[in-house]
Amino acid sequence: MVDMDKIVSLSKRRGFIFQSSEIYGGLGSAWDYGPLGVELKNNVKRLWWRDNVHLRDDMVGLDAAITMHPKVWEASGHLASFADPFTGCLDCGRHYRADHVEEARKNSKWWQKLTEARGKGTWSAVINWVKGDGKKLAPNLASVKQAEVFSKRDFSGHPEPHQISESEFMKQVGGVDSLCPSCGGKLSEPRPASLMLETSLGPVQETATKTYLRPETAQGIFVNFDNVLQASRKKLPFGIAQIGKAFRNEITPGNFTFRTREFEQMEIEYFCMPGTDEEWHQKWVDERFQWYQRYGIQKDNIRQRRHEPDELAHYAKGCVDIEYLFPMGWSELEGIANRTDYDLRQHSQFSGKALEYFDEESKQKIVPYVIEPSAGADRSTLAFLVDSYHEEEVREEKRVVLKFHSELAPLKIAVLPLLKKNDRIVETAKQLTANLRQRWYTVYDDTASIGRLYRRQDEVGTPFCVTVDVQTVGDDKAPADEKVTIRDRDTMEQVRVSISALEPVMEKLMAGKWAEVAQEHGIKRT
Ligand code: ATP
Repeated sequence: MVDMDKIVSLSKRRGFIFQSSEIYGGLGSAWDYGPLGVELKNNVKRLWWRDNVHLRDDMVGLDAAITMHPKVWEASGHLASFADPFTGCLDCGRHYRADHVEEARKNSKWWQKLTEARGKGTWSAVINWVKGDGKKLAPNLASVKQAEVFSKRDFSGHPEPHQISESEFMKQVGGVDSLCPSCGGKLSEPRPASLMLETSLGPVQETATKTYLRPETAQGIFVNFDNVLQASRKKLPFGIAQIGKAFRNEITPGNFTFRTREFEQMEIEYFCMPGTDEEWHQKWVDERFQWYQRYGIQKDNIRQRRHEPDELAHYAKGCVDIEYLFPMGWSELEGIANRTDYDLRQHSQFSGKALEYFDEESKQKIVPYVIEPSAGADRSTLAFLVDSYHEEEVREEKRVVLKFHSELAPLKIAVLPLLKKNDRIVETAKQLTANLRQRWYTVYDDTASIGRLYRRQDEVGTPFCVTVDVQTVGDDKAPADEKVTIRDRDTMEQVRVSISALEPVMEKLMAGKWAEVAQEHGIKRT
């Protein structure tokens, strides 16, 4: 698995993702999508929309406002309980999500080194660490702060450090059993911290309406349930899809775009008859799990995780997370929850407007159950980016290649002239670019030698390069053959095809039929 630093550095260098406000020192919790990043993310969203809305009879779309009536958040329960447990270091002041702090400590360098010392099986090895490496790595660990006192402590008669429990060991070296992953200092008692980002609407502070930037897009769908039902005349089961920004005051944003305070969600609320909800839940889990793999996520890098009953939100009947093996480990990509009829009932109660469905068959009004596949556009984009990253050895040189599915690739085709001083080559290449562009995002590049141009396109995942050379346009020695070379990113094989056949050939190639085209036209020897 590639490490995140490589992805961050490639993203910056090639224009996928930049640090927000970088020239002012950057904002850790926000990222900007550059020229190729915006293409990639738009492709993710476009495919999600196409597959979940356009290709289905039972789905429609919506684009609700980010700011909503403040009562929405009372009804949804977000104001009362949308919070994560928060803890802070009393020594260095860093903040952590209390439920993430133990893992962070275990992964920290100081804990790993201290664990090595503990593994030696004697307190004197621990004392050596405290007086040596500990000073640098965990300056606020109680034993390190008072290294002299600690080193004089009489451990005779005590069990050796590897014979006591981890929490007992932490108390011995740190005074408490919850320690700062960064400096080894003491952490405060966990308390809930609201994730809601407050804002006010209106120019005059005193009379402005206090509200919130939505922490999920879902509520915009629930409050429009009746509008959509009346306008679209859909029958159960049917769903409403929405893509849009959401905001959460995360305690510890991080891991690149994985956790940010501003992010984009792709959410579906799928309304169905009570009693059919479990079946629909399973169908959506299967469908969403397949979706990522359809666009290239390798099957060993994705898995499902069913929530334990004690993890479930109080209104949820079941939840399955789709997890991806990100560089920092298995983490949530999408959650698919059975939210029962909770949201519609809450909004009916708080707004006074009945959010119901009239069932023609039973002639009864019912409150539908809802299945919610809730995905992150940024997390999906990151997963596709990470998954596509490959390093290969080609003729004793390292080749970095992003093996994107052709539908996801930011650029589809690069047209490259072999000689930029030959006017006929350049003119033909530019004309080809203009033609291909009508259907696929195509770029023209003549700013380096052909080898380097290929490497550049590999590194941003362009599936096909089209090269125009002397044979294409002819010279004194031979007439034009009006053929171009197409190079496949993944196999690096080449075929030579007539310009007149280029479009139908490209159509096949975009559909993943390189082998068929190669057989038809023959692999070109290079
Ligand atoms: P986590 O446990 O990682 O905080 P969550 O369970 O709170 O996530 P949901 O409320 O289920 O997340 O949100 C649905 C999806 O929205 C997530 O699966 C993720 O893809 C995306 N998402 C949620 N929070 C963030 C965030 N802070 N940054 C980027 N994407 C996010």
